[in-house]
Amino acid sequence: MILDGSGAKPYRGDVRVNDERIVDVVPAERRLPPSEGDVIDCAGATLMPGLIEPHAHLSFVDQATPHAFSSLPVEEHLLLSLKHARLYLDQGFTAAFSAAATKPRLDVVVRNAIRSGDYPGPRLLAASVQLTVTGGVGDLRQLHLDPGEAMYTLPCDGPAEFRRAAREACREGVDVLKIVASGDTSTPAIPSARTVMADDEVAAVAEVARQHERRVAAHARSAESIKMCLRHGVDVIYHATCADEEAKDMLEEHRDRVFVAPALSVTWTRLHEAESFGLPSSNAIKARVARDLELTVECMKDLHRRGVRVLPGGDYGFLWNPHGSNARDLAYFVDLLGFTPMEAIVGATRLGGEIMGMPDSLGRVRNGYLADLLLVDGDPLADVRILQNRRRLLAIMQNGVFHKAPPPDLGQRRRAAA
Ligand SMILES: [Zn+2]
Repeated sequence: MILDGSGAKPYRGDVRVNDERIVDVVPAERRLPPSEGDVIDCAGATLMPGLIEPHAHLSFVDQATPHAFSSLPVEEHLLLSLKHARLYLDQGFTAAFSAAATKPRLDVVVRNAIRSGDYPGPRLLAASVQLTVTGGVGDLRQLHLDPGEAMYTLPCDGPAEFRRAAREACREGVDVLKIVASGDTSTPAIPSARTVMADDEVAAVAEVARQHERRVAAHARSAESIKMCLRHGVDVIYHATCADEEAKDMLEEHRDRVFVAPALSVTWTRLHEAESFGLPSSNAIKARVARDLELTVECMKDLHRRGVRVLPGGDYGFLWNPHGSNARDLAYFVDLLGFTPMEAIVGATRLGGEIMGMPDSLGRVRNGYLADLLLVDGDPLADVRILQNRRRLLAIMQNGVFHKAPPPDLGQRRRAAA
């Protein structure tokens, strides 16, 4: 069964891959002629595009607080980032759009190591560290302590400092400049509804991105931060928690250009699962997180109705929301946002190709597209949860090469079991 990522109904058929590309996709009535290559009898398993993670932080280290990202020396940090990269590919994520690194060159080095074929991982768009203002999310400095260089966020003040930080990140080779324009659920002193960056600061980063042909992704939970980002051409809006009518109208107006990804998992698991990881929440925290989740869900439902591209991606990499469980986001889209399983899958495949900047070569099973493919035991449209189960991924291909090859007797086995 070919689930091609376009949103079209799956159909039985044959697919031929040559080198790194898909070169033939034909429905079952017209079988592919016999050829020289390896033939894999999938016996009715589902062939679909590799999953794409739109909000990855490969250098988050599955700890409870961001202090852990900062205190880790760069050598250990690189090894952990590479480990997470392999885990993503093992879980069927063949591409990822980074939503910030925690040290300036981590993403760049990991991207290059994957690209050169030296280390397994998703094809990656590498991000800068988060750029925000003094007192913004992740500014861990205290006046009585020398912070040294130990910060996962780079505080900048005024357009000149933002411009310099953005240019430096471009020099080091990032694809994505990440800004934190609003407060966050996790920081009561700077709540989600608060805007922290100034208009000219966002403009400065956006200008550098345009000049250097990079992308800007923004943590933007407050209504004003969303509007500011849209005015200056920011490409990706994360969270959009407190979008008001005007912000939603603007997102709709820019829907052919902009992507929205709510990052539901980090909030949902903080509310419902953090306690089982030994992180009890006070009633005040619970109330705050629950409110943010509720606002985000309502906003995403509305944006989805308005035809805005709402993508999965869940800020994985915290103790209570660990790396590798990324496919859970598809189930949140179905259960919380009312997406059909098909819409959730399109969000993680075709729209994933679009956010990666490769709409004509990534995220679909189609002639000429890159052969990033999953072979799934079962029908993900009947239950998107099966994509969370690594054992249900019979094969994982990236660039036409198996990261996980199917068992040689796959067809016989499946027929015997049926
Ligand atoms: Zn994030």
